[in-house]
Amino acid sequence: MLENCKYLVVGAGMWGAVLAERLASRHGGPVVVIDRRSHSGGNCHSRVHAQTGVEAHVYGTHIFHTRRPRVWEYLNRFCSFNSYRHRVLTEYQGRVYSMPINLATINAFYNLTLKPFEAAEFIRQEAARENIAAPSNLEEQAVSQIGRPLYEAFIKGYTQKQWGRNPAELPASIINRLPVRLNYNQDYFDDPWQGLPLAGYAGLFDRLLAAPGIVPRLNVDYLAVAERVPPDCRVFYSGAIDEFFAYRLGRLEWRGLRFEEEVVPCPDFQGASVINQADVTTPFTRTHEFKHLHPERKYQGNATLIVREYPQACGPGAEPYYPVNSPANQKLLADYQALAAREAPQVTFGGRLGSYRYLDMDATVESALELADGM
Ligand code: UDP
Repeated sequence: MLENCKYLVVGAGMWGAVLAERLASRHGGPVVVIDRRSHSGGNCHSRVHAQTGVEAHVYGTHIFHTRRPRVWEYLNRFCSFNSYRHRVLTEYQGRVYSMPINLATINAFYNLTLKPFEAAEFIRQEAARENIAAPSNLEEQAVSQIGRPLYEAFIKGYTQKQWGRNPAELPASIINRLPVRLNYNQDYFDDPWQGLPLAGYAGLFDRLLAAPGIVPRLNVDYLAVAERVPPDCRVFYSGAIDEFFAYRLGRLEWRGLRFEEEVVPCPDFQGASVINQADVTTPFTRTHEFKHLHPERKYQGNATLIVREYPQACGPGAEPYYPVNSPANQKLLADYQALAAREAPQVTFGGRLGSYRYLDMDATVESALELADGM
């Protein structure tokens, strides 16, 4: 499999599949792509749930969204996307609100009927009570944007559960992912282009990996083939960088997730694809009901698949989901990167695991495209 191999891509997720497609199309093969899982697609992977026929996102709901024209144009060469726009609700103390925080959330929470300009002044006054001039963590950032009552209701408990630590110990950048709006725009993302692959994520990845010259191999661990990689073969590695070096300098910290599946005997369980749970006393953070992601499909039958998402610590052997961006982890990452430059100069690390970054899918695609541009 590795004889004459010009490029070896480790990991058939978004970064690996896009990079492999670009390398094979521009430079020819063989571009060998290995993945130790039994499927391609990394954590975007989806498969049809046998009992309900619903396309289930095995590692949690993944909605593609972007404002990067090049990324949108590139992926649309391989698949079309449906017109789904993500809207999320959140439950807090027995009531349902719109998320991210917008005028509907504010008016429902305070039982008011503020207009946008009134809400701007109202929220300014709420935020001013705390007098935070230079927010230095997630809690201060949120309170300085929306005031303490909204923070305590919709951010504090959810964030505590999601990250397993006090929001005052987390970087402000995490909450900057969520917009705050003083109008009734209830979209979760601001990005103009959004949707789900019409052919499913499996269809998208099959097409990316079908480029002439790509040799995809599933159920293959890098360690099993490492010694047979030809010396002039360039390696692109999207596994975890600490694992590549057998944790020689220590373990980078990740946050994990656990999913609990249930088939509910009704056609529609919650009326939306994702409902968040803001109460800290409810142990899960969100409930996914995947059938709502594809309004263009006519799902038959009287049952629906739901999945509850429970954040958890990520010990050895568990699936890593979110990098924990503490100063100690950033220092360890820098040490691993220096080690990589010294001991593995033929290997390029990338993707969510390889770069230890909290990457959206579109940023992952862009980084693969840009890397291929330079080759
Ligand atoms: N968040 C929150 N309440 C919510 C949703 C999100 O406090 O109802 C915070 C939480 O800290 C989370 C961050 O916003 O980690 C980013 O949320 P996002 O939905 O972007 O996270 P992801 O989909 O990547 O898990």
